Amino acid sequence: MAGNTPVDDDHFRDQCGLFGIFGHREAARMAYLGLYALQHRGQESAGIVTTDGSRLRMQKGMGLVNDIFTDACLDQLPGASAIGHVRYSTSGDTVAANAQPILIDCHRGPIALGHNGNLVNAQVLRHELEAAGSIFQSSSDTEVILHLYARSHRDRLEDAIAASLSKVRGAFSLLFLTPDAMVAARDPWGFRPLVLGQVDGAPVVCSETCALDLIDAEYVRDIEPGELVVVDAEGIRSFRPFPTAPSRHCIFEHVYFARPDSLVFGRNVLSSRLLLGRQLARECPADADIVVPVPDSGMGAGLGYSQESGLSFEWGLIRNHYVGRTFIEPKQSIRSFGVKIKLNPVRSVLEGKRVVLIDDSIVRGTTSRKIVGMVREAGAREVHLRISSPPTTGPCYYGIDTPLKSELIASRLSVDEIAKYIGADSLGYLSHEGLLRAVDDVEGRRHCTACFSGRYPVAVTQAEDWQLALFEKARG
Ligand code: SF4
Repeated sequence: MAGNTPVDDDHFRDQCGLFGIFGHREAARMAYLGLYALQHRGQESAGIVTTDGSRLRMQKGMGLVNDIFTDACLDQLPGASAIGHVRYSTSGDTVAANAQPILIDCHRGPIALGHNGNLVNAQVLRHELEAAGSIFQSSSDTEVILHLYARSHRDRLEDAIAASLSKVRGAFSLLFLTPDAMVAARDPWGFRPLVLGQVDGAPVVCSETCALDLIDAEYVRDIEPGELVVVDAEGIRSFRPFPTAPSRHCIFEHVYFARPDSLVFGRNVLSSRLLLGRQLARECPADADIVVPVPDSGMGAGLGYSQESGLSFEWGLIRNHYVGRTFIEPKQSIRSFGVKIKLNPVRSVLEGKRVVLIDDSIVRGTTSRKIVGMVREAGAREVHLRISSPPTTGPCYYGIDTPLKSELIASRLSVDEIAKYIGADSLGYLSHEGLLRAVDDVEGRRHCTACFSGRYPVAVTQAEDWQLALFEKARG
């Protein structure tokens, strides 16, 4: 087999990270570092827009932050304020035109926008806007917001942005940049994270606190669900232009998406993962010798499982961290390198052992099957797979790249059938109640759990069903 083979990695994918800074002498380089820390939220494209007070300048491209931004490239981005974005596509094709931020010039002046999330009514709005004469430059749902903004008749920047956002529905954490202001906004449900920090007196807004840590910025607070924050020469002003809604933070940020060293929705992610693992050990014990996490996604929960069960935590799988998203296989090879390119089992740890293997989720099941097989081939006597979240039975419409429902193994098979398919001696998932308990939300008042429970907090209407059909068709 020849050509570029995708590395096996069967996960839901977060698709975007945001970073913005206002009034700092090294704005572009700070944005670069912030995006570097947020690279795990998107590896397909990255971009930075800066302002010197009169003009916006942009550099963006396909690939990793480190590949796109050289010293010379950052020298092309003068100015004391910047917004940046890393992307992994959800809505829209994988093309350079969809890389963000998106920069436009309209009668109101230039404006740039970066978006984390997904709008459930974007296609409907797009058709209306196109019928009224708007011409789109990308297939991204984010561009809809800028067209709505450009058509607004409101005078003040914050009013025009609020008016455009009042028409969209779904998940958005946003950063806008104009020549003299930065604006952050979060949807009323607060699906995706967004935090406010400060460094050297300059306000910073970003997706996760790990980006603040890297530039020695202090965490100030979360941008609240439904809040719009304007940062300009007059300081920081907060507005509440949207109707209130019950908070629905994405619970998968705790389970997998966010970096373990980040504070997300006010909670340290690693602490949450340890609690998920402890809860999993209480709910799904196993008669075994050692606990082995699937790195890196199962590390926190694996440690928690070990602490609760008393079973020893062992490095039975080693991850190669220098793997991209594709690789080239030998032309004549009949072997599959898909998982082995990333994970290598340690025979001396696994041989003769009854292993509890810990991972965060099973999506299609194909990768789990290969990992279980690999652990067995390395000599494990038994393999008991434990998952630190409930079965994923539905797709996400709020900014996460997910397969079709029919591709989700838990939407088709029972737990016993999945265990059989994967080749595990036993399989246990964390319960829905246990998941909520581990993030201190026993009654489920603050989190979205739709991909586990089927209870979607923002309804998908008939027209949007049609949009989703198109979306799913485009994804193949
Ligand atoms: S559906 Fe799942 S992945 Fe999407 S926001 Fe809700 S919990 Fe997160």
